[in-house]
Amino acid sequence: MKKYFLLLALCLAPFFPGNRALSQTATAAAAPPKVLVFFSLNVEADHMLFATDALKFFAELADKDGFRVEATSNWQDLNEANLKQYKLIMWLNGAPGSAAQKEAFQKYMDNGGAWLGFHVAAYNDSHSRWPWFLTFIGGGVFDVNSWPPIPAKLIVDDPDSPVTKGLPKTFVSPTNEWYRWKPSPRLNKDIHVLMTIDPSNYPLGIKAPVTSGDIPVVWTNTNYKMLYMNMGHGDKVFASPVQNMMIENSVLWLLDKH
Ligand code: ZN
Repeated sequence: MKKYFLLLALCLAPFFPGNRALSQTATAAAAPPKVLVFFSLNVEADHMLFATDALKFFAELADKDGFRVEATSNWQDLNEANLKQYKLIMWLNGAPGSAAQKEAFQKYMDNGGAWLGFHVAAYNDSHSRWPWFLTFIGGGVFDVNSWPPIPAKLIVDDPDSPVTKGLPKTFVSPTNEWYRWKPSPRLNKDIHVLMTIDPSNYPLGIKAPVTSGDIPVVWTNTNYKMLYMNMGHGDKVFASPVQNMMIENSVLWLLDKH
């Protein structure tokens, strides 16, 4: 009987081009997608606090949304053979150091991998020697930061994105250190900005306030399956259910679950 159905399926297969996609979906449902979270040790305390909270948040999200999450502080795990098993890579509070790690990441992204980077993960300045990453992130070099960390009202630029689904037009993002980039990633035609600091926040900060400028905080480079968000400093980032929903939306979108 089984044989008969198999034969029938094989005969009918050419007439149903969607069969292949259907069987791939079935396989994906059977094996939950895997996420690898990279975090750095020996970093500033507030970036470690964020990473600690993020690991807990994503472990709980994995149970809720049906994916598997693994975490490592060993950046040597950023190699071609290892990355093959992961649908999504996250960088919580750091970035790769060696040329081999950078090359493996570039290859992973060029071949359709997904990336979610937080806060300092995108830090780069005139001393950085990774031109590919600068293009990947939208061309902006770190310019200034607000200090001390402070909540900020954000504007949702694109309410129709799967990432901002269900979000109000504006909301207050919990205490964070905010970065401004030069030039603004918004000026890059490949960058799609999803959320921005509302200029009504200026001056943003007390000791070293940011007083002006365009500060996108969540964006994607449309040439890749990637998302960067500036949140990632201190232990308040996950204090907002609205923002948590945005982060959950982001993971689901990057995992093609939306
Ligand atoms: Zn920071």
